Amino acid sequence: MKMLPYSNFTAEEIDGYIRSVKPEQVKRSLSQAEHKFTDFLHFISPAAADLLPEMTEVSARIKRRHFGNTVRTFAPLYISSYCMNNCVYCGFRKSYDYPRRRLSFDEVLNEARIIRDMGHESLLLITGEDAKISPDFTADLIRVLKNDFAYINIEYYPMTEPSYRKLYEAGCHGLTIFQETYDPELYPSFHPSGPKANYQFRLNALAEGGKAGFYNLGMGALLGLNPNWRLEASNMAVHGLWIRKHFWKSHPQFSFPRITPTKWGYNVPAPLSDHDLEQMILAFRLAFHEADLILSTREKPEFRLRMAESAVSHLSAGSQVDPGGYQDHLDGKNLGQFSMNDQSSVEQVCAGIRKHGMVPVFKDWDRSFQ
Ligand code: SF4
Repeated sequence: MKMLPYSNFTAEEIDGYIRSVKPEQVKRSLSQAEHKFTDFLHFISPAAADLLPEMTEVSARIKRRHFGNTVRTFAPLYISSYCMNNCVYCGFRKSYDYPRRRLSFDEVLNEARIIRDMGHESLLLITGEDAKISPDFTADLIRVLKNDFAYINIEYYPMTEPSYRKLYEAGCHGLTIFQETYDPELYPSFHPSGPKANYQFRLNALAEGGKAGFYNLGMGALLGLNPNWRLEASNMAVHGLWIRKHFWKSHPQFSFPRITPTKWGYNVPAPLSDHDLEQMILAFRLAFHEADLILSTREKPEFRLRMAESAVSHLSAGSQVDPGGYQDHLDGKNLGQFSMNDQSSVEQVCAGIRKHGMVPVFKDWDRSFQ
């Protein structure tokens, strides 16, 4: 595995360092007020694996300091299951032969209305790599949707600055791109064809979004692809630091999607345990005090709520993961890009959040100058 080009260290150096960390170094890092990249490496080290209770205590304090008692909620809206790519882990990959769906403009608005009626004010627009879901189509959508939603974020195929600028100017303020794996040697085996086979183009996309002005720049690795999750996490942290340094007006966000089965089945190459995922999320909260940490309905309700108490700031709620999925759900049908471990309604998610002594927040964003 390699480190990102903007890391000062080789993968071997990082890996060797992580494995050499002693419990005393983890404890020393925990006792400090500020945390640097070296501290992050301490928090994801094997030595820290037995110190999750101590990490949880400090992480929860940091989360409360920056986010109070709140958990922000949002819902994804899938626009198209057509895709030019062949990501081996995905239910939408091109090689699967099944009826696809691409929502029309009005169908997207219908889905959005259902989501809005559920109480959501933050919307995440998602599509596979479908050329017909163009930046112009999306900008038109955003101009309408922003009347009903306080905050709109997109998780699309990578674009360049001019296209991102159109979306930003239409009223979209968040951009999410998962690199899936930061390891350029592993990457081709999971992304054998289609535009997504271009590792570097995908890696550059967040910077293109930063240049276009997006306030929130979200990143993530698909957990379960890389057998060395500690190096994967290190690269994600390096990416986050680089984004923070170069786009200081933007806010980095980290997501932790763990692979769940598709209806076609997929043998996860390197399953990540709950314990490892918890350590990784805590390490990010401990090292990135103010960053948004996001956990989707891929995870079970109890795990999501526990992590929201200690580290996670954003939970999706009441999600459907297929184009037209919200209407289909009302009609009693269901498909999906991946399977969900939390199928709770928005009310149930919010009740869980309150039961754990926290407050669900639907809106944390106000447009002042537009
Ligand atoms: S992960 Fe995204 S890009 Fe890859 S096949 Fe699925 S929808 Fe397409």
